[in-house]
Amino acid sequence: MHLIESALSENHRAVRDRADAFATDVVAPRAGEIEATDEFPRDVIEEAGERGLLGLLLPEEYGDLTTDFLGYCLTVERIAAESGAVSETVQGHTFAALPIARFGTESQRERYLPDMADGTAVGAMLLTEPDAGSSPSQLGTVAEATDDGYRLTGQKAFGTNAGVADVHLVVARKRPQPDDSHGVSVFLVPSVEDASGFEFDRVEYMGMRGHVTGDSTLDDVAVPAGNLLGEIGGGFRIAMGTIDMARTGLGAIGVGLARAAFDDAVAYAVDREQGGSPVGEYQAVQVLVADMYQQLAGARHLVYSSASAIAAEQGDTRASSAAKLAGSEAAEFVTRNAIQIHGGKGYRKGMPVERYYRDAKILSIIGGTSEIQRTTIAKETLGL
Ligand SMILES: Cc1cc2nc3c(=O)[nH]c(=O)nc-3n(C[C@H](O)[C@H](O)[C@H](O)COP(=O)(O)OP(=O)(O)OC[C@H]3O[C@@H](n4cnc5c(N)ncnc54)[C@H](O)[C@@H]3O)c2cc1C
Repeated sequence: MHLIESALSENHRAVRDRADAFATDVVAPRAGEIEATDEFPRDVIEEAGERGLLGLLLPEEYGDLTTDFLGYCLTVERIAAESGAVSETVQGHTFAALPIARFGTESQRERYLPDMADGTAVGAMLLTEPDAGSSPSQLGTVAEATDDGYRLTGQKAFGTNAGVADVHLVVARKRPQPDDSHGVSVFLVPSVEDASGFEFDRVEYMGMRGHVTGDSTLDDVAVPAGNLLGEIGGGFRIAMGTIDMARTGLGAIGVGLARAAFDDAVAYAVDREQGGSPVGEYQAVQVLVADMYQQLAGARHLVYSSASAIAAEQGDTRASSAAKLAGSEAAEFVTRNAIQIHGGKGYRKGMPVERYYRDAKILSIIGGTSEIQRTTIAKETLGL
């Protein structure tokens, strides 16, 4: 169940091999410990950077290997098959680095991108607020203009890598609001340690343990004028400019989790005997295996086709929403039934399948919930 080899370029194969070596040699041996301790695996992220996996989508000067969006999806899919937390950390970091690469000034790019590419600096995008989730246009965080910059005040909810990041892309509304621009803007806020008035409370989640997110409070946090990313009022375009990629990438993470659960379930169904037969010989189990395969393969095709379209600069919103929706649903369906096939052992703490199941659940919420993806697909289809 792979992409037809001939559809992959030399570059895709090189990226896939590198991601495979990282996932096998670095992530797999650490996945259980990351889950058990819930500690942010900074050294694993640094190793991803050292191996060139954090600069894949950045301009060539920031890494020895760059690729297109399909290469990126192959990478996060492979990492997710070992650790959802590490893949989600890489995804959150990537979608903080990309806006800097696209909209940053030369000096902002020079300041942040080399360290973000080699993993010594981690990035986070803080858009969501306690009262602004699925409808992020109602943001309450403000950036008061001062003589030499801005002072940010407000609350942000969630935000992958928030608190452990070295650079936070904070979406806020400039005050006073310019006459010609009513939109929000993006401000580069340093680490919690380096920004007075910036506090972060980590919140524990049911899955993706080791990946960090929580509640951020900005209380009159001063940033210099040079920390405005892009233009005043251009924040929504920056935050949403990579949304098709971000959604497709989340779909790829879902495919990675589903694939790991599927492989474990198939091996178990062949191995485990009950009533004198391997459980995989019972038709009821075969139905589960067939439905799991169908969901996984379908999601993978949607993700690869959206990723290939983005790589060819022909990405479209409906295709990326469908990729994200399918990847999330496949992840939930396949991981749930992988536990089912493992019987009582699947429900046991410490079994990879129960971790995959808890990790998978977040995918139908982040980056736009499944309800929002369905609404988007329907609106695009109906021309609304
Ligand atoms: C682990 C984790 C990591 C995250 N990472 C980030 C990050 O890096 N950056 C960031 O900015 N945010 C991040 N988020 C926030 C995430 O994107 C939001 O949680 C998500 O967009 C949903 O918003 P909400 O939680 O406020 O739910 P709500 O918007 O309050 O939704 C509640 C329910 O109502 C439904 N609903 C709401 N509006 C509509 C509508 N118009 N049509 C149909 N149904 C609707 C939703 O589908 C959902 O079922 C993260 C969240 C988590 C849990």
